[in-house]
Amino acid sequence: MSQKLETRTVHAGTAPDPVSKARITPISQTASFVFDDMDHASRLFNLEEFGNIYSRIGNPTNAVLEAKVADLEGGVMGLGVGSGHAAQLVVFHTLMEPGCEIVAANKLYGGSLNQLSEAFRKMSWTTRFVDADDPANVAAAITDKTRAVFIESLANPGGVVLDIAAIAKVAHDAGLPLIVDNTMATPALCRPIEHGADIVVHSTTKFLNGHGNSIGGVIVDSGNTDWVRTGKYPTLTEPNPSYHGMVFAEALGELGFIVACRALGLRDLGPALAPMNAFLTLTGMETLALRMERHCDNALALAKWLKSHPKVSWVSYAGMADDPYHGLCQTYLGGKGGGVFTFGLKGGYDAGAKLVSSVELFSFLANIGDTRSLIIHPASSTHRQLDDEARAAAGAGPDVVRVSVGIEHIDDIIADLAQALDKV
Ligand SMILES: *Cc1c(COP(=O)(O)O)cnc(C)c1O
Repeated sequence: MSQKLETRTVHAGTAPDPVSKARITPISQTASFVFDDMDHASRLFNLEEFGNIYSRIGNPTNAVLEAKVADLEGGVMGLGVGSGHAAQLVVFHTLMEPGCEIVAANKLYGGSLNQLSEAFRKMSWTTRFVDADDPANVAAAITDKTRAVFIESLANPGGVVLDIAAIAKVAHDAGLPLIVDNTMATPALCRPIEHGADIVVHSTTKFLNGHGNSIGGVIVDSGNTDWVRTGKYPTLTEPNPSYHGMVFAEALGELGFIVACRALGLRDLGPALAPMNAFLTLTGMETLALRMERHCDNALALAKWLKSHPKVSWVSYAGMADDPYHGLCQTYLGGKGGGVFTFGLKGGYDAGAKLVSSVELFSFLANIGDTRSLIIHPASSTHRQLDDEARAAAGAGPDVVRVSVGIEHIDDIIADLAQALDKV
């Protein structure tokens, strides 16, 4: 860990392939792996030895990505899964029994709001959504059924930065882990574990991959949680019938949670990461630090320009010195606001719909974190499924436009929005 982040984004987890001597991580495009003998097979199946069995459970290309993200986040181990949503699902599946609850910030990625309300209901789980700007609201929503607190370090789409350390304290005082979705900030701007987070989840689809060419997710565990203390996590602290009565938290110590995510969550739910996608993400991640710098510089310049535009009513970008979240942005994100922000159009819903149809350089689509500049009108797309109140709470009201500012030249980015705003 003595090396700087820029160096680790290139080198962490990767070494020349010991068999072929290939410098770049090979794509292990295989479903399964041969056993040396019966003894080897039984050691792998008993989790007495870590190794490859079947690519639903683990794959050598994925393992390199897991090691890289875990290193950048400062965790004990990572787990690659098929998408950001799969990362969340596997974490919750490991921590929750039917009837359990989580407390979550109400300003989250729209897809997460759906997962935590609709998909949760079908598992008999409940999310209590709170305005986490005030950590006291998190504390007030915790019950004896709560098993975790869930927030985003930099909320998509609102550009909201939460007080991670204060919320971690609230969670820990109640004996609960804090889970932080660090997708928008990336470890280049924020390392939640340093501020008390216990588990970090990523959609690698966004800035980690950075090129919009594959879906993926990673879970990183800090290894800091004492799962045994509260008795609230039977998956980790009670004998597991599918592993000969093994108790994960006892047998594996600080690796108990992340190994259970793999050996139970990934094995039984099945959202495996394709090794090709892990390879593309590894390639993209080598330039993470460089790209984030440009994304942030461009986003700040664009946010300032939009703020003085006559058709724009407000701009929410935590990287601007006069933004209400700038203080927390300095504490947790090094003062950088990331590549994504929202702004409001005086013309409301119709103006938003017209703007996203009038861009030329920007792509009108539902993604963030690409090298290309991207734009969307959340009320008519990503946040369409929510009712008006939930949309407003999530920072996706009718006048809101979200941009993911790419790494093109800033003059061209501004010129495109200037011509599109002229048509509104
Ligand atoms: C996109 C996104 C997700 C979901 O990730 P997928 O890879 O699309 O499943 C979760 N959280 C945030 C903040 C996101 O931006």
